[in-house]
Amino acid sequence: MPGDALLNRLRSFNRDAFPQYRQQFKTLVEDGQHPTTLFIGCSDSRLLPYLLTGAGPGELFLVRNVGAFVPPYDGSHGHHGTAAAIEFAVLSLQVERIVVCGHSHCGAIKALYEEVPAEANNLRRWLELGRDAALPVVPTPDALRRTEQRAVVLQLERLMDYPMVRRRVVEGQISLHGWHYVIEDGEVHVFDVESGGFVAASVATHSGTGPYHPYVEHDGQVLSDENPETGEKF
Ligand SMILES: [Zn+2]
Repeated sequence: MPGDALLNRLRSFNRDAFPQYRQQFKTLVEDGQHPTTLFIGCSDSRLLPYLLTGAGPGELFLVRNVGAFVPPYDGSHGHHGTAAAIEFAVLSLQVERIVVCGHSHCGAIKALYEEVPAEANNLRRWLELGRDAALPVVPTPDALRRTEQRAVVLQLERLMDYPMVRRRVVEGQISLHGWHYVIEDGEVHVFDVESGGFVAASVATHSGTGPYHPYVEHDGQVLSDENPETGEKF
């Protein structure tokens, strides 16, 4: 942005946009925030959670990071703001759903197949949180898309390792939603735990499935822990 165009935008927000939200923000300040959704999304500038979901002020508790990854609950990966945000959203805000949203043309996923700059110590380690989603193939556009989707499922799996998440999912108090946003189509594809695949929102029958019980094999096959004959959980 040339000159101080950013300052002009700040002024414009306060002058032109804020007035129509003034009352809404006043209420949100007086009553506090009560968002019902924890949205974990990639930092990519082309992913716009509010635009996608039609959410307004106070509706989304938002966490964004490179790749929309979820660190392990046991802290083995070091301190993470994302892990802290998950605990806060579930235990204090008592959200009703958690969305993990990856997307097409994700640089984090592509980086799983490339060299990371030597100086990017933190990035290299962070990307390991998506490593199990990578396929032993040449990263064609199709392979990258599959990896992006597998990474979303991998993070849902890791979310289930958070005891406060697992408990609420099992009790039906929280639903988990795995989304893959295709930027060029403007369409979210929703993970369907029954089929193990992603279904375009335009034809999907739900925005995500929970309770969530599948197990992701290293080869990418998603297995359910249901007894295939009786439908009962093991
Ligand atoms: Zn991304």
